[in-house]
Amino acid sequence: MNESSTLLEVRDLKVHFTLKRPGLFGQAAKVYAVDGVSFNVKRGHAYGIVGESGCGKSTTALALARLIGATSGDILLDGQSLTSLSGESLKEARKGLQMIFQDPYSSLDPRQRVEAIIAKPLRQLTRMTQAEIARRVDELMAKVGLRAEQKKLFPHQFSGGQRQRIGIARALAVHPQLVICDEPVSALDVAIQAQVINLLKQLQQDMGLTYLFISHDLAVVQHLCDALSVMYLGRVVEQGERKELFSRPLHPYTYALLTADPIKDPTLRGKVTRLRLEGDPPSPLNPPSGCHFHTRCPYAQDLCKVESPRLRDVGQGQHVACHLVKIVDGRPVSPVPAFA
Ligand code: SF4
Repeated sequence: MNESSTLLEVRDLKVHFTLKRPGLFGQAAKVYAVDGVSFNVKRGHAYGIVGESGCGKSTTALALARLIGATSGDILLDGQSLTSLSGESLKEARKGLQMIFQDPYSSLDPRQRVEAIIAKPLRQLTRMTQAEIARRVDELMAKVGLRAEQKKLFPHQFSGGQRQRIGIARALAVHPQLVICDEPVSALDVAIQAQVINLLKQLQQDMGLTYLFISHDLAVVQHLCDALSVMYLGRVVEQGERKELFSRPLHPYTYALLTADPIKDPTLRGKVTRLRLEGDPPSPLNPPSGCHFHTRCPYAQDLCKVESPRLRDVGQGQHVACHLVKIVDGRPVSPVPAFA
């Protein structure tokens, strides 16, 4: 198997919701939660999707896991289209794609013992015997740093970090090809966050896992991911390899996220001019015209208000959607200052 081949391909994914009509004669509003998102994830790599809350990153994750329906577009896992599957073939494909959820408190059934929680996907998706399942549960407990005898306990008898370890064990139970991690540490204390991130990293190395990592926290993504997409109001505004994107962000929104206050990345301290974003992102119910970011962008021009910028290849695998990013002498030039 080719290590650097594409495992997941997302093509022009759209997830639009129509809200209930307000009264008999009211117009039903549409939410453009995900509006034409494309990216590839290489086998054995970790790919990040970042952005503020409401940018569509979690909706993208749910659509990939087929927990919500896509309006259009295609999702290919190992070359197989997931969007058209249903029934038994969808169940079979689900084995290849498992999720770690944000909230370790609500994502585990409080009435079930840990052994039943971890065994659930094995019972539902495999034909393993009782004895094989018991052995696999013990093996998974050890992999995530829990003692085998703790499998008899209930979720409330564990700390937040331990609960997330149980969620990780459950996600890995059926040897998935892709693990979608939806903000897996955002509900945890900072010290525990680092432990869980290090565990995810270790498991990736030991088991050759491929991650899709959804996060609002660029520091977390920087620590774990090989490449990433930055989303704003349902669209990708910049994507590329971690190294390029973190050392030379081109889109004003990426720059603002990277230089946000407090700057978490110590290597950036003293080297950057902060770009503070005013206010919250506008509602995806009624996104601004043209470039969705124009209402918060300090560089916005008249063109930005009427024409939506295309996500363009600007070299070295970096793509950016901004009218003001130009190619000069073969190199991308952006309105945002370069890091010193
Ligand atoms: Fe800002 Fe215009 Fe670029 Fe959008 S297209 S990010 S509004 S400069």
